[in-house]
Amino acid sequence: MAQVTGGGDGEIRDAVVIGGSFAGISAALYLARGRRQVTVVDEGLTRNRFAAQGHGLLGHDGRPPAEIQAAGISDLLAYPEARMVQDRVVAVAGQADDFRVTLASERVLRARRLVLAYGTRDILPDLAGLAAIWGRTAFQCPYCHGYEMAGRPAALWFAAPGVAEHARFLQQWVPDLTVVTDGAPLPEADAAALHAAGIALETARLAAVESDGDALRGLRLADGRRLAVEVLYMVPRNEPACDLAAQLGCRMAEGRQGPIVETSQMQETSVPGVFAAGDLDRPVFGAAFALAEGVMAGTACHRSLVMGL
Ligand SMILES: Cc1cc2nc3c(=O)[nH]c(=O)nc-3n(C[C@H](O)[C@H](O)[C@H](O)COP(=O)(O)OP(=O)(O)OC[C@H]3O[C@@H](n4cnc5c(N)ncnc54)[C@H](O)[C@@H]3O)c2cc1C
Repeated sequence: MAQVTGGGDGEIRDAVVIGGSFAGISAALYLARGRRQVTVVDEGLTRNRFAAQGHGLLGHDGRPPAEIQAAGISDLLAYPEARMVQDRVVAVAGQADDFRVTLASERVLRARRLVLAYGTRDILPDLAGLAAIWGRTAFQCPYCHGYEMAGRPAALWFAAPGVAEHARFLQQWVPDLTVVTDGAPLPEADAAALHAAGIALETARLAAVESDGDALRGLRLADGRRLAVEVLYMVPRNEPACDLAAQLGCRMAEGRQGPIVETSQMQETSVPGVFAAGDLDRPVFGAAFALAEGVMAGTACHRSLVMGL
């Protein structure tokens, strides 16, 4: 993390932002530019930290994730209204105009508003060797990393409705594509659509990832065969990175890959004075989306401080 400043214990801040990455820093930047006292708390575990480079974000294409985050923090801390604390938030309580935010270090911050921007965690399936290649040669998003991997033989691990459409889309980057289902049967129509598109289908159970460091070399199947692929795409389930929205009683919804916080178009949660942004409330993931939502949360939060709830 680039710089860390004091958090302002005791004093009531206009807003505390929980999570200091794309969504949280953007929200805080707009609050600070609105001349509001804002403190961001972040424990430094962004979702994309496993990747060597981040892609598709204007002005930052190809930079390491930590460098992009540090640039955002450095922009934010140029404003005297903004503070940053490197810590983990473990508890939140209270209501609009008097929220209390307890940190792992046992410090307590107070705030009139909260912005939840703590993102999600990918729940990787329990496949030997997978964690070591996650973000390096195993990915969730072809727009993020498909260009760099284009042309290499790849597998798509997906066995849900819509697999044929997903696979055909991926063919833009991967001419030699195999769909693997890890033992799950596919409906006849999906299997036929894959066949018609020239996409191989492998329904055997997966046993392990074969890799050389973080470079995927192949997938070992439970029946002893081996699939020679160099890239693995998958759609893992996600869960919020922590339970703070639940602690506050925010209404949740079921997103495409797991539970998300329900928000209005203005990024308001169901709890007055609490806003949420980024992966936490959005089933379509990506840094630019998180950043844009952070701007909306920051401006909506600012508006609520001016106009009331
Ligand atoms: C492997 C991989 C590679 C990716 N590559 C790209 C890419 O190239 N381009 C792209 O656009 N998108 C990419 N993404 C998606 C991108 O990472 C997310 O869309 C983006 O990070 C979401 O931003 P966010 O601010 O919502 O959450 P995050 O970036 O995940 O940030 C959440 C922050 O909250 C903090 N936090 C969590 N809980 C607490 C707590 N209790 N207290 C304090 N802090 C807390 C975390 O430490 C973290 O810093 C990738 C994702 C993965 C998994």
